[in-house]
Amino acid sequence: MYYLESLQLKGFRNYHNEQLQFHPRLNLVIGENAQGKTNLLESIYYLSVTRSFRTNRDQELANFEDRYFYLKGSFIKDDLKHVVQASYRQNDQLKISVNSNQADRFDHLQSFPVVVFSPDDLQIIRDGPAVRRRFLNLEGSRLNPLYFEDLKNYQRILMQRNFLLKEKRYHPKIRDYLEPWDQALADLGSSIISSRLVLIEAIEKEASIFFETMTGSFEELTLSYSSTIDFCENPETTRNNFLRTLSEKRDAELKRGTTIIGPHLDDLKVMINGSDSRRYSSQGQKRTAALALKMAEVSLFRMRNNDSPIILLDDVFSEFDNSRKGYLLKFIREIAGQCFISTATDLNGLIEKNNSDYKIITVKQGSAFDETDQFST
Ligand code: ATP
Ligand code: MG
Repeated sequence: MYYLESLQLKGFRNYHNEQLQFHPRLNLVIGENAQGKTNLLESIYYLSVTRSFRTNRDQELANFEDRYFYLKGSFIKDDLKHVVQASYRQNDQLKISVNSNQADRFDHLQSFPVVVFSPDDLQIIRDGPAVRRRFLNLEGSRLNPLYFEDLKNYQRILMQRNFLLKEKRYHPKIRDYLEPWDQALADLGSSIISSRLVLIEAIEKEASIFFETMTGSFEELTLSYSSTIDFCENPETTRNNFLRTLSEKRDAELKRGTTIIGPHLDDLKVMINGSDSRRYSSQGQKRTAALALKMAEVSLFRMRNNDSPIILLDDVFSEFDNSRKGYLLKFIREIAGQCFISTATDLNGLIEKNNSDYKIITVKQGSAFDETDQFST
């Protein structure tokens, strides 16, 4: 069993100083709009993966007045306690520690699995390719250390290569200068593409089953990778194709002053009954597809860790119809991991009758109260 036992938040969003104990299974976070429900879930996510699901800027997470934040959580994994601390101060580097040992920001990217479901998941289907690349990069990095290393190095090489292209594109020797960068870009880029193909296949396998069940077997969800590089299963061939395409596009690239092919421009195609869901699906179909992808994410973490990740459901039920809501609740119940459900609406249907195995946390203006006793009497 894997769960978050307690959490302290100081200066995080609208929380000044809160100390909370959680239930190992179900925690219901209730409160009116703009009180701090999402902020609480965000802090749990942040402590687990050292990034937010809402912003890339740590600065936004620090309380407007306090201008710093500190989070401390005790995670229980296989009966052992792991204390994770994160502290941020403006103009200073984020400090992370695990059991009092200083950790690199992304050191524990794979150690404390968490999956968040939010109404924004719809963006994965509806929005442009950048959102889907982010989805692939984050899942890939959290499930596979090699993916994370490749991605970090690829981004560094890409930045330096783009700088060179921009600054030196009219230099007579630019083509010679680019040679070593092309090699590095193709090495790392083809490795990322290979990892993505494996990841997409694994997600598809799981997501298609969830999707089929939710649609009563009437519809089929498939995923495919759409690349600027002619790719195949053999990374060596993909690498050679990458290099060939780089040289074919050399003139266009020099003209543009930036790298115009590579996995940083690729896309994940999500298809329902063979058509691109971004263009052709209804709003409801898109929501079901997004939900199936997130459930697949949970399954992959479970397979990898033999344990359920912590699941955060941020206000998702307000967007779902009864059948999707019921399906998601059943899913949560069956995987039996720790779950946090935030809602501004009523609790109807969220808790089974005669079930006292949960905790209710009421959130009001950046303060959180344990209300379980009140509700269970
Ligand atoms: P809803 O039901 O509308 O989703 P919520 O309870 O999830 O509401 P949150 O998003 O958790 O609301 O919290 C919103 C509140 O937190 C807002 O009032 C916002 O102004 C405040 N807030 C956000 N960032 C900060 C910050 N850095 N410092 C102080 N307050 C902040
Ligand atoms: Mg919210």
